[in-house]
Amino acid sequence: MEIFFSDIPDEGLHLEGELPGTIFDLAEDDPIRPAGPVRYRFDAYAFEEVVAFSGSLRGPFRLQCGTCLEYFDHEADFPAWSAEIDREPGMESFDLEALVREEFLLLLPSYPRCDDGDDGRACPKAELLEDFLEAGEEVPEEPSRPDVWSALDGWKQ
Ligand SMILES: [Zn+2]
Repeated sequence: MEIFFSDIPDEGLHLEGELPGTIFDLAEDDPIRPAGPVRYRFDAYAFEEVVAFSGSLRGPFRLQCGTCLEYFDHEADFPAWSAEIDREPGMESFDLEALVREEFLLLLPSYPRCDDGDDGRACPKAELLEDFLEAGEEVPEEPSRPDVWSALDGWKQ
């Protein structure tokens, strides 16, 4: 939906609604998978050089865990969202779908972990990693003496 700057009154233009997950148009193996429609609710203000937005964005996604690579449910919720776009010369409008799409992609976590998800699961790979690190602590800190020293010891006696 194209919103013309000339349609934005001084007191701001209220925009609210739902957009289908298909606006994201991501590759099948993308680590971000929209899981339903996203909701937007914000006001747009047109200034001389920028158009500013203030409101909230929310929507369900499946994200790929950066540690175990499993997908998990993530409800993206940005209750105090704000952004602005520059008004380039000759630019008269902005595209609502493109704005919402770009903002979600920008704000979603870059390195999500499945144990940050809504279902309270623990990341299986993270446990393995912790087990591995704990096991590592049992290794004696003193390195074993290199043979050259025992040879020297023998020589001194
Ligand atoms: Zn994980």
